[in-house]
Formats: sequence, structure tokens, C-alpha cells
Amino acid sequence: MLKVEKVCKDFGSHRVLDGVDLAIEPGQVVSVLGSSGSGKSTLIRCINGLEKLDAGRITIDDFDVSKPRDLTEARKRSATVFQLFNLYPHLTVLQNITLAPLEVLRQPRAEAEHRAVVLLEQVGMGDKASAYPAQLSGGQRQRVGICRALAMNPRYLLLDEVTSALDPEMTAEVLAILARLARTGTTMLFVTHEVEFARRISNRIVFLEHGRLLVDLPTEAFFAPEVGRDHPRIAQFLSKMR
Ligand code: ATP
Ligand code: MG
Repeated sequence: MLKVEKVCKDFGSHRVLDGVDLAIEPGQVVSVLGSSGSGKSTLIRCINGLEKLDAGRITIDDFDVSKPRDLTEARKRSATVFQLFNLYPHLTVLQNITLAPLEVLRQPRAEAEHRAVVLLEQVGMGDKASAYPAQLSGGQRQRVGICRALAMNPRYLLLDEVTSALDPEMTAEVLAILARLARTGTTMLFVTHEVEFARRISNRIVFLEHGRLLVDLPTEAFFAPEVGRDHPRIAQFLSKMR
């Protein structure tokens, strides 16, 4: 289980996360919606231990990401795909994907490379193993980013607006892969502006506003008219997204 308990995060005097509580059971897909600046990326960065918390606690399978001793274990269990494909430009696709399995998991090279090729084939990129990131389209780079995360066999996959830098066609390619992962039981925390897609693949939807979780609801309940009536901000957000 991934647990976020009463988490606060400040940047200077600006409270960016304000008492966030969130729990994700294995196999669940939870989407995080919210306007720009509401704290979504900060939440992801806190979960993977890139930001220090000002209050509260985050645990991944009971490993506390704030404790250096636990962080390595927590990081073995979760993997993040970011908005901008941050692949290493000087490494090939295969080297990008196998880097962490070799260095962090200490997998034998043959095993890591075999797994990378299988993952690339699953996303329709079996022929690109020796290409460099600069030789790929945005959608292809993002698919490599997803393979790189999956190569760590994470229990939890954190996705931060992985399609927002892509054109509609490439977005569709990447979403198709995520939909397949969701169906096969990958646990996901999915930050997105793709409201209709979130509706299709999520078990739950949470809405962040100024660092607070306004609602945390089963997907269909989130789209019920009462939610919009009780939370004008959510109604406004959804009307803009459609
Ligand atoms: P978007 O939808 O645009 O990606 P977001 O919901 O991901 O937005 P965050 O990136 O989490 O928002 O930012 C939340 C707030 O925290 C913003 O006001 C942002 O300016 C501020 N912030 C984020 N990172 C830092 C930082 N390193 N230093 C200072 N302020 C920051
Ligand atoms: Mg963001």
C-alpha cells in the first residue's frame, strides 16, 4: 500500500501541500486532477523522495520515504514517469532502460537487456533499441520513459502528465499503453489533464486545489452532478476540460 498521511510541503512561506491524505491499494488506479499550480507534481516528487516533507508521512509498503535507510527500498517499489521525457541523450534506448536495473537492482546484463527488449516490443518499439533519444519522436521517447520505469518491475507507477507535451496522435499512442497497464493490474498514481481518459481507467479520482484534497471519490461518484454542486471549483475545472 502507498500511504500519504497529513503531508504538508512548503516552499518558503508558500504552503504547496496542505494536509494531504491518500492511500492506494495494490492494483488500484488513482487519478489526480487539479489546476496548474495546485501541487500535483509536488505530491509526486514527495512520494518519490525528491522533496523533503514539512509535516506528515509517506510510506510505500511501510517503507518511510523520509528515512534514508528506507528510501532505497521505497524507490525499488515505485517508479516515476515525468512530463518531459528525461532520457539520457548520450545513451541509447536500450542503455537508458537497462541503466537502473543494472546499477540499482544489480541484474545480470543479459537479463536486463532481454527484459528491455520485451518491454520495447510491447510498446511497438522493438526496432529502436539502439537509437538515441534525439532520433525519436516525442511519443516514442515517452514510450521509452514508460519502459524505463517498468524495467524496475515497480509495484507502484507514478505518472506526472506523461502526455502533456505530446500531440493528439502521440497522446493516443501513450494512453493506449497506459490503459493496457491499468487493465493488467499495475498500481498507478496518474496525474493528468486527460479527464475522459482518467474516467475510463481509474478506480478513484482525487481533486487537488491549493494543496488540499477537495475530494477523493470512486470514479463514477466523482462525475456525479452533486460533486459539481458542492464544489464549484470542480464543476468549473471539468467544464474547461471538455
Ligand atoms: P501543473 O499542472 O502546472 O504541472 P502542478 O499542480 O503540478 O501544476 P506544482 O508543480 O506541484 O503544481 O507546483 C505547486 C506550487 O508550488 C506552484 O505554485 C509552484 O510555483 C510551487 N513550486 C513548485 N516547485 C517549487 C520550487 N522548487 N520552489 C518554489 N516553489 C515551487
Ligand atoms: Mg505539474
